Amino acid sequence: MPPGVQPQTSNLKLETFFSPDYATARERFRAAAQAAGGVLDALALDEVRGPNGEALTIDIARIGERAARRVLLHTSGVHGVEAFAGAAVQLAALADPPAPPAGCALVLVHVLNPYGMAWLRRANENNVDLNRNLLGPGERWVGAPALYPRIDGLLNPPAPPSSDLFRLRLGMLALRHGVRALKQAIAEGQYQYARGLFYGGNALQPGPALYLDWLRRNLLQAEYLFALDLHTGLGRRGGEMLILEPGAGATPSRELSAALNRALIDPTDQGARPYRIRGGMGGALPHILPPAAIDFVLQEIGTYGPLTVLCALRNENRWHHHGTGSLEHPAKQAVREALCPASPDWRRRAVELGLSLLRAAAQFTFGKRS
Ligand SMILES: [Zn+2]
Repeated sequence: MPPGVQPQTSNLKLETFFSPDYATARERFRAAAQAAGGVLDALALDEVRGPNGEALTIDIARIGERAARRVLLHTSGVHGVEAFAGAAVQLAALADPPAPPAGCALVLVHVLNPYGMAWLRRANENNVDLNRNLLGPGERWVGAPALYPRIDGLLNPPAPPSSDLFRLRLGMLALRHGVRALKQAIAEGQYQYARGLFYGGNALQPGPALYLDWLRRNLLQAEYLFALDLHTGLGRRGGEMLILEPGAGATPSRELSAALNRALIDPTDQGARPYRIRGGMGGALPHILPPAAIDFVLQEIGTYGPLTVLCALRNENRWHHHGTGSLEHPAKQAVREALCPASPDWRRRAVELGLSLLRAAAQFTFGKRS
């Protein structure tokens, strides 16, 4: 770009990068990636379709060398409905993409859970939370946190949404067991209640299997990989939390924090981390790409308070399993609002935060000496 020319994105209304649905987001992503000179792949989920019969794919754009030694990997939508923000950030990045130098590449993975985005669900087509599905070698998809069986009835009642004093009853459980223990039990990941929230599945899911296979085939030459995974829902509204994932951690957290000029939450800091999870993507990457040194940062952009988000997830889950699952139902619209607020201010902020981190990570990755 010639000196003095502002990046295109500063002249645009950032909220316009948000798409109204999966099909639109996919089309825009592919067009923008091509316009930016990217190479596209599409990993198709053959068994499932979107609400209008459309194909569901995980789309991957690479900008830069095929056999790059240093790679910045940006993923959106592992949690389906959270993809609206991640896809918007990727579209904004493609409007003014970083130019990777020789030996480097930027890889954008558009919507790891396309079923969830298309059907406004956090989980995938098998009710699996994909960020609890990627267990390490030797781990089995069994069990649940000790407290989960005691909250299953309250969290996942086998009936369509209704007013049932959920907040009050949850409050009583929190008094008995403690807020922190309750949060941990709900969100850690469970492998026992197939229709429940935060279900991690009973096997590696089709989408992640395709994606991990793509990584093995395409990024094996990477010596250094910086992975960024964008989520929404946790933390202060319009704020961000950057959580380092255990299992990666090629760069000492202080060094990475200084390089990105941002506070990072260390996974070993029990007080700062919202909760521990099983089967997350960050822990899986080192097993998939053992030759690479990997850093993994999960970016959370806050929306509403945790109870509002949990209530929305719970009602949508009830509607999906015990109603018709139609998209017009208030439970569907509420879960979309809980994880992707309609407010233009929030949307602008989400794109700013996502883009700004992506650019800082690009500078770190592409400037890094190996
Ligand atoms: Zn998430």
